[in-house]
Amino acid sequence: MTDRIIQLLDLRTARLALPRVDTPEPGVGELRDRLNRPLRDLRISVTDRCNFRCTYCMPKEIFDRDYRFLPHRELLNFEEIARLVQVFMAHGVEKVRLTGGEPLLRKDLERLVEMLARLTTSTGQPLDLALTTNGSLLARKARTLADAGLRRVTVSLDALDDAVFKRMNDVDFEVREVLAGIDAATSAGLGPLKINMVVKRGANDGEIVPMARHFRGSGHIVRFIEFMDVGSSNGWRMNEVLPSAAVIDRIDREVAPLEAIDRNYPGEVAERWRYRDGSGEVGVISSVTQAFCQGCTRARLSTEGMLYLCLFADRGYDLRSLLRGSPGEAPADDAVLQSTIGGIWRERGDRYSELRSEATANRPKVEMSYIGG
Ligand code: SAM
Repeated sequence: MTDRIIQLLDLRTARLALPRVDTPEPGVGELRDRLNRPLRDLRISVTDRCNFRCTYCMPKEIFDRDYRFLPHRELLNFEEIARLVQVFMAHGVEKVRLTGGEPLLRKDLERLVEMLARLTTSTGQPLDLALTTNGSLLARKARTLADAGLRRVTVSLDALDDAVFKRMNDVDFEVREVLAGIDAATSAGLGPLKINMVVKRGANDGEIVPMARHFRGSGHIVRFIEFMDVGSSNGWRMNEVLPSAAVIDRIDREVAPLEAIDRNYPGEVAERWRYRDGSGEVGVISSVTQAFCQGCTRARLSTEGMLYLCLFADRGYDLRSLLRGSPGEAPADDAVLQSTIGGIWRERGDRYSELRSEATANRPKVEMSYIGG
């Protein structure tokens, strides 16, 4: 494989000034940013480490033995994460997705799941708690995660053919182990699952049809994701993006006829299609060819507690310094945290995907494994 690798500029310490909090504000759940977008989802990276080296995400040449992953003391602990989640919920967050890196590498993750599963929204609804995983440890962990209160899992799987999958994950990991994870999650009551496949033209687009065929009729929903210019290390080029329209066209012609269906809720990123014969559904996520910034209601919390407002950001807000205090500053109470997060969100105006070009793709951006995919 001839992937172009770009040297990594470490942006993890680049931060934006926290807004001044003069008057504490109550969380009202009606927070809006400058483009009138509410805050509804929080993605939390629980570890920046991964046991895969997917060429489009954590290329081996950069994330090698010398790469400095965060030391344990830098990570938010579970109590800090749960506290922040409660503050975010007061601002309207209803969904939390645990991600990474590979979230199942975080020790005792089920304890965090248990803590978050107990939280309820202001209207008394349980938090919608989900996890995104590469599936490698799912066969072992699905049952304990379900028992801890996890309700939804998304598994990433880029191919059914072992040779193609191994070229993508670059650690010789076999497809059958991920499939065993999917089965275990289904038996543990976590199904039907979403299966995410990143499509990179020339690398795994030959796997679109086999993936659609394999999961058709299973109840699981395969979602085909356009290869994105996240981070600065994956050597992204526009000509490696296969537009979602071409994916749908291929499945419609080679697997079975499809028809478009409505989104489940406003702001859902996947466009939904169902087989006309009732044998299931597929989705496409077209961040490149059909940007959905207008409907973006997400914030991202990095492994060490930096808040990012966009997947393509180059800087974040250091919430950990508020949680733990810093030299000369006492730790913040919940009211200050709430007002600060409110102030940050109100100033949000990013819409990177709508402005993307080959030129913006070369701008330095934080890595997806750190910010949370
Ligand atoms: N390790 C977990 C996993 O594999 O699902 C969670 C983290 S991973 C960064 C989250 C998702 O981001 C995966 O589905 C992965 O394929 C996707 N992803 C990573 N880099 C991407 C890129 N450049 N374009 C599109 N999707 C990407």
